[in-house]
Amino acid sequence: VIIVGAGFGGISAVKALRHVPVDMTLVDRQNYYLFPPLLYQVASGLLDPSEIAAPIRKVVRRAHNADVRLAEVTSVDIAARRVHTSTGSLDYDMLVIAAGSVDNYYGISHLEERANGLKTLPQALRLRAAVLRAFEAATTASGDERRRLLSFAIVGGGPTGVEYSGALAELVRHVLVKDYRRLDFDEVSITLVEGTDQVLGTFSPRLGRKAARALARKGVKLLLKRSVRDVTEGGLVLDDGGLLNAGTVVWTAGVRAAPLMHRLGVPVSKQGQVAVTSSLCLDGHPEVFVIGDGAELLQDGDLLPMLAPVAIQQGQHVARVITARLNGRSDPPFHYRNKGTMATVGRGTAVAELGPIRINGFIGWLMWLGLHLLYIVGFRSRAVVLLSWGWNFLLMDRPVRLIVDPGEAPAASSNIAGVEQPHMLDEDGKTTPGH
Ligand SMILES: Cc1cc2nc3c(=O)[nH]c(=O)nc-3n(C[C@H](O)[C@H](O)[C@H](O)COP(=O)(O)OP(=O)(O)OC[C@H]3O[C@@H](n4cnc5c(N)ncnc54)[C@H](O)[C@@H]3O)c2cc1C
Repeated sequence: VIIVGAGFGGISAVKALRHVPVDMTLVDRQNYYLFPPLLYQVASGLLDPSEIAAPIRKVVRRAHNADVRLAEVTSVDIAARRVHTSTGSLDYDMLVIAAGSVDNYYGISHLEERANGLKTLPQALRLRAAVLRAFEAATTASGDERRRLLSFAIVGGGPTGVEYSGALAELVRHVLVKDYRRLDFDEVSITLVEGTDQVLGTFSPRLGRKAARALARKGVKLLLKRSVRDVTEGGLVLDDGGLLNAGTVVWTAGVRAAPLMHRLGVPVSKQGQVAVTSSLCLDGHPEVFVIGDGAELLQDGDLLPMLAPVAIQQGQHVARVITARLNGRSDPPFHYRNKGTMATVGRGTAVAELGPIRINGFIGWLMWLGLHLLYIVGFRSRAVVLLSWGWNFLLMDRPVRLIVDPGEAPAASSNIAGVEQPHMLDEDGKTTPGH
């Protein structure tokens, strides 16, 4: 069994197949398993990369039937049952594709060049460096240029946009204000731009309003019902033609399935996903599973969202299907169990929706902390993250204020550097509201 992608879906499949008599090869272009929900805390100087990422080889160490290969999968020959990678080809009996998703820039080329994404570790480090550099540059700039440097625009009012805006506001108002004493912090502006009339659109309107009020209290300006037409050196060009001054633009407004989906030789949706059956396989190819963000599956008339629990449950289900087949039984159908969603709006405030139960404020935040802690890999990382959160809560500190810019990957090694390569996308299309 070849598993492409060591994210939520791929790792859950490997763990679930640990005691099943199969030989696995797990292929990923990066050597670490990432916990994306906390990327915004790396970008805002609270956590270090090693606290939200762990070496893949360590994560799957107990799966003695799994081998790991650091390589980019470039294409799949479904007829020949062969995967082509940057380090050679691999034949399979069964293939599990869990390659995740990438930013969607809606075909706006300046966005791709000038906006900072927040989907990968290098992007989070670049964003952290960009914010700190903007403050450094502002100390020697004057007038309009200084105000431009101190203006930050976040596009997309989904969980990632809301979480990052809240965290950035706290970094600025509680920490940087002490570091840059000669700057006038009334000149700093943080604006969250959202296309609909509510932030956290997947939550109930009441929780969306509460999140908006919490952001406003932190000094984040909300620009609702506005979309972005372009990005210039000066800032964002909005759909009404207005210009929003911004030296740093953060893009969290759209995702689409990984480019690999376009290289399977099967039709892809406008979100770049491929349709799967209730066994999570390609129609006519029961040996090819697609799970997580790359899979298009309807349940009760709705498309399953691009969320971690979907990918995790699908990874576990692949093991059930493979086990059933090895035992001569028919494939069990997949059914997603929605256990709820949550998002935090900064220190001490979060919203959570667990079926009919809606929770916000401090209790929601404690639940958010507990759940995220549970999913972080390794006792050491959990302990360090807990300590960092406690430190931040009591002292309002963001200790990792280091300008470490991973830069662009050199061409020769870009295949395995973990840097997303949006230029490989060849289509535009509709997206889901982005995480
Ligand atoms: C910033 C952010 C915050 C999020 N917050 C939440 C949240 O709070 N709650 C929630 O439920 N969901 C959240 N999500 C969404 C969640 O992370 C995804 O739905 C989930 O990771 C999808 O799992 P996956 O297995 O499909 O892909 P991923 O977990 O993204 O893993 C894909 C893996 O495939 C590898 N890969 C891709 N292409 C190739 C290739 N060609 N060759 C080799 N390897 C390849 C990648 O390196 C990666 O390791 C968030 C996402 C982001 C980006």
